[in-house]
Amino acid sequence: MTVRPNQFRLASSIREPGELRDGRWRTFEPVAPVERELRGKRFLLRPGLTFTPYANPAPCNAHCSFCSEELMRLDADRLSAKTVIGDFDRYFDGLSRAWSELAGFPMGLSLSGLEATAHPEWLLRLLTLVQTHGALFPERVLYTNGSGLCTDLRLVPALAAAAFTRVELSRCHFDEVINHRVMRFDNGQPIRHRAAFEETVHRILKSRLGLKLVCILNTQAVSTLAQVEAYLDEAEALGVTQVVFRSLSELGDVYRDTRETRWIARNRVNTRALLDEVMTDQLVTRAGWTFVGMTAGYYYSNEVYRRGGIEVVIESASYVAHHEGVQRGVMQKLVFHSTGDLCGDWVPNAQVVGNYFSP
Ligand code: SF4
Repeated sequence: MTVRPNQFRLASSIREPGELRDGRWRTFEPVAPVERELRGKRFLLRPGLTFTPYANPAPCNAHCSFCSEELMRLDADRLSAKTVIGDFDRYFDGLSRAWSELAGFPMGLSLSGLEATAHPEWLLRLLTLVQTHGALFPERVLYTNGSGLCTDLRLVPALAAAAFTRVELSRCHFDEVINHRVMRFDNGQPIRHRAAFEETVHRILKSRLGLKLVCILNTQAVSTLAQVEAYLDEAEALGVTQVVFRSLSELGDVYRDTRETRWIARNRVNTRALLDEVMTDQLVTRAGWTFVGMTAGYYYSNEVYRRGGIEVVIESASYVAHHEGVQRGVMQKLVFHSTGDLCGDWVPNAQVVGNYFSP
């Protein structure tokens, strides 16, 4: 069975979920690429790809034990996370140049990297630029730890005004002590406390923005089905309607051995076992859960359920599959780095399209 991009398989069309649960991204069948000229050279781009202006206007104000921005691939010569954006004028001129070259090729805007809200002035300038290239980004998503949304009241309305589709807000646990064990916010960040987190959630829910809570499954916070259900109960009580439980990505042997890779290996949760508890191979779902369907991309796969008033997504991913995907000569992703380089990969020296700091 193959899976095409954006193809959502409804529960009624699935007979054996088990055959799809292990490494489902291997069955992904991509749409044909299109050719574009960028910086004077021809490139193949995958329609539907996402563009990330790598958000590192400042170091992150959290130190998550699993932080993927600290993971160094063996073929990388540096980490993007370590080169913060220096000259904002030059950065935004370059980004605008890149977006102008890509005009007419609609993409998803995926605002991630380090913490975009850690430098509100940078984020506000970015939102203004997004609006001037409006048609380029039919979908706009901010991935955040919520720190700046909590402390700067301008940001939620500005994201809504810039027509962001949703905010994906990370929280590993509702108990602030347990959450802090994993997310390790800087001391001065109010969002480390539960009351500030909940107030931020309420403010986002009152805006026009969609909100998904993102819980990274790990054995220090949420790992068992009982803990998953307790998390969903707390989310529902807050008025949240979408929650994603994301597994720690499979790293294979393409990363250097570091504190983060060792933490990930020690604390990884077997998503397959969790999924088997939610729904058996015979399609028997756990009481209170309804299977909605599944979807997949070139390196991730999702199962979607309803439990009470919440849409629950359980997601697994593989950075190995991601790495293989981007090496096939077709751009699956575009990342604009702080150096002005546009790349087809998160690694700043891989799949380089060209530099946009010069006209
Ligand atoms: S909030 Fe994101 S960038 Fe910051 S430490 Fe956590 S995972 Fe890394």
